[in-house]
Amino acid sequence: MAQKKEMSDTERRVIQAIVDDNLSEVQALLSEPGLRVDFLDDTGMTPLQHAAFRARREICRFLLASGADVNSNYHDNGYTALMFAALSGNVEVTRMMLDAGANPNHTNSVGRTAAQMAAFVGQHQCVAAISNFFPSSGLDYYTKPQGLEKEPRLPQHLAPVLVKMINMSNMNPVRIAYFLQDHKEVLENSKKVSKVLDILCEKAMKARDTSDIMALKTHYFATIIRRASKVYEEKQNLEGWIKSLVRGRDSDGFPELQDKLIKQSLKEFPYPESELLQQMVHNLANPKLGSHPSAVVLLSQAINGQRYGANEEEDCTTCGQIRAEKKCSACKMVRYCDGICQKLHWSTHKKFCKDLAVKHQKIQEQEQREQAQKKQEEDEELHKKMEDAHIEDKKDGEKSNFNDESEAEGNRKVVQETSQLQSSNQEQTIQATLET
Ligand SMILES: [Zn+2]
Ligand SMILES: [Zn+2]
Repeated sequence: MAQKKEMSDTERRVIQAIVDDNLSEVQALLSEPGLRVDFLDDTGMTPLQHAAFRARREICRFLLASGADVNSNYHDNGYTALMFAALSGNVEVTRMMLDAGANPNHTNSVGRTAAQMAAFVGQHQCVAAISNFFPSSGLDYYTKPQGLEKEPRLPQHLAPVLVKMINMSNMNPVRIAYFLQDHKEVLENSKKVSKVLDILCEKAMKARDTSDIMALKTHYFATIIRRASKVYEEKQNLEGWIKSLVRGRDSDGFPELQDKLIKQSLKEFPYPESELLQQMVHNLANPKLGSHPSAVVLLSQAINGQRYGANEEEDCTTCGQIRAEKKCSACKMVRYCDGICQKLHWSTHKKFCKDLAVKHQKIQEQEQREQAQKKQEEDEELHKKMEDAHIEDKKDGEKSNFNDESEAEGNRKVVQETSQLQSSNQEQTIQATLET
């Protein structure tokens, strides 16, 4: 059994090398005889846990390959490597831990799972990665001929791609179409792939622990693959189809075709008794006052949890990727992953960009007005304080036979404080200008 003890010098250097993201140093140090890959620091953390917390992807990979225990559980608060990965917010490292056999049901000393901890700190991508996780071994059965089968149901080389697809969190058909465009082998074997997805869907619904989420997801992917492969057979590419999925209607830019596609897929879900499905159908039929949830948002939240992509305005308008970095430079009101997503959306967005720019300008002006008002209020308060201080000083002066020096000192102090406050106000204004 592992024990916490004072770390040796070499052990300390391993932790430092992880902090510095220095893989070759970690490799060199761990090759020293007598050093265990799972040594514990003074809080009971292993090197893998340190690497997971700091999202050191390559070091995590190396430590796991060197036999690190992904479920080591000696940390003072009962944190596992999966919990540390989930807290780091790095989806890839989180998946790496799961793929190495991390138990997602482990709880820490206060009874929280890794997914709950990630939700608590707002790492909703990691929550989604954990709850959607499908292990690489999940397709092993289908890649080997069973019984009298001459060939396996799924060609071996397609397994890693399909696992990657099933583990996707983004349910936007445009994003899935991008993926299929990069993996044409899926389209070329679409019958086999979608059949295996159908079987996975059935298995998820008939298992003892029914998983509506996995069933809905595999069914949805099968639908998209079937639709995309039809297009691909005809045109040998998906470009035109992707454009049609992005195109928005004239009145408000809403992408009707992709909405239809998703609703059609839900209609065809072979388990109408599923509670998850019924809930979605109910929400689609009864939009809350003033809000019109699109099918893609509802589907995405059904699969990934309510909080996933909750800040819709931060997502890519074209493909739904969350926390997209780039903004339309003209209106600054819509976000995109990159130039490809922006270009695809331009034919729709160009009809609204000017109006959005006006809206943006108005929002900015409103913010400036509020800032100015706040500053004025602060100035007034300051003046009042100065006057009060002056009166106090006068009173003091009268009491103590008027001391010239102390009044001067008092005034100096007030002046000093005022100028400090003013300069900090200035700093605030400058910062605000930069941010907007
Ligand atoms: Zn995008
Ligand atoms: Zn714009």
